Amino acid sequence: MTSAAKPVPLLRHLSGEFYAHCRSHELRFQRCTQCRSWRHVPRQTCARCGAWDWEWARSSGHGTVFTWTVVRRPMHPAFASAAPYAPCVIEMEEGVRVVSEVVDCAPADLRKGLAVEVVFDDVTPELTLPKFRRASGGRRPS
Ligand SMILES: [Zn+2]
Repeated sequence: MTSAAKPVPLLRHLSGEFYAHCRSHELRFQRCTQCRSWRHVPRQTCARCGAWDWEWARSSGHGTVFTWTVVRRPMHPAFASAAPYAPCVIEMEEGVRVVSEVVDCAPADLRKGLAVEVVFDDVTPELTLPKFRRASGGRRPS
């Protein structure tokens, strides 16, 4: 059996900018400079006020597990050896949600509201993925 490479994000346009910040180990999301609302996934205009003006604002890196699913039979062969694994939706303190994984938590130990913090997985010299681990210290979900 040949091994397949995992699919990776396209590193161009706004998505490329998002991952360029990740490569610098900075988690940044777009924030509207008119109404100050955060957004993710990257897009040109603000869904709240319609403005085209925005900035890449740095996230605290802290959030909580919002939901997840456990994959036991991956649809893509590159993920076969990782199963079972749990893609998670992380709700960041800024309010945006990110699909990722909690690297130090078995799927059976995931809980809604589990406090997590970002870590960076340097997959290749060009690609760094934001992932999460259980939050250290006394930080509590808000
Ligand atoms: Zn706005």
